[in-house]
Amino acid sequence: MSPLPILLLGGTAEASALARALAGDARFAPVLSYAGRTRSPAAQPVPVRTGGFGGVSGLSRWMREHGTAALVDATHPFAAAMHAHAAAVASETGVPFLRLLRPPWAPGPGDRWTPVPTAAAAATALGATPRRVFLTVGQTDLPAFTGTPHHLLVRTVDPPAALPAGVRLITARGPFGPDEEEALLRRERIEVLVTKNSGGAATEAKLQAARRLHLPVVMIARPPAPALSVSSADEALAWLHAQAACRGV
Ligand code: NAP
Repeated sequence: MSPLPILLLGGTAEASALARALAGDARFAPVLSYAGRTRSPAAQPVPVRTGGFGGVSGLSRWMREHGTAALVDATHPFAAAMHAHAAAVASETGVPFLRLLRPPWAPGPGDRWTPVPTAAAAATALGATPRRVFLTVGQTDLPAFTGTPHHLLVRTVDPPAALPAGVRLITARGPFGPDEEEALLRRERIEVLVTKNSGGAATEAKLQAARRLHLPVVMIARPPAPALSVSSADEALAWLHAQAACRGV
């Protein structure tokens, strides 16, 4: 029996963990797909393709041409367009489909979170009085904060193509530790943190640091989660094993 062609939509630590688990398993022929946003993505032990597919029709064509037998969407919790495209193709074609979505962060005792639904709502929640803001929302959501009266310190993995005037930039890739995050918040005299509820350990330390310093956090909520989702690479692997067993692979 030939191995099952798997399309794994990546760009997260969970996708990389699943790719590592699948590498060398003769039952599967995985391809890990990157959007191509990060300039130097980590090396992977499975074949990688990079760049958009060209919407629903492009993804559908790619999967047909590659005989994809199972589709795992392990993109970032905020990658709503890619998820919608994957869900549409899966429902159109009947290809088994799974969303791998790491758990969101939840506020703990002493946290001062303001939950908001969008980046625009986060900008509004900062108010009209200038504040020193640490903004870790990724490149795509930066424009929502242009024209606000705040002193913005932005951290991204790669430098954004365009940086709003008056914004200061740090480029760094996690994981970060709570001590270094606390030192950064103190050094920059940050008054409020704005972030998306990405979840995951790699970037959670800023929330621990904000808790230590009793700083408020404006937390942008995730888009709604689909019905069939798992929260770890191990659960996704178990689902793929079941797919292989169903097909006698
Ligand atoms: P998005 O808005 O959902 O996707 C925009 C377009 O990028 C998609 O329509 C698709 O283009 C392409 N794309 C996205 N993920 C892809 C993938 N894994 N493989 C091939 N094409 C992909 O997503 P996004 O927010 O721009 O995120 C892009 C990537 O960065 C994702 O893979 C995600 O896991 C990662 N990421 C995102 C965030 C975030 O905060 N959004 C944070 C960290 C990492 P076509 O329509 O042409 O197929």
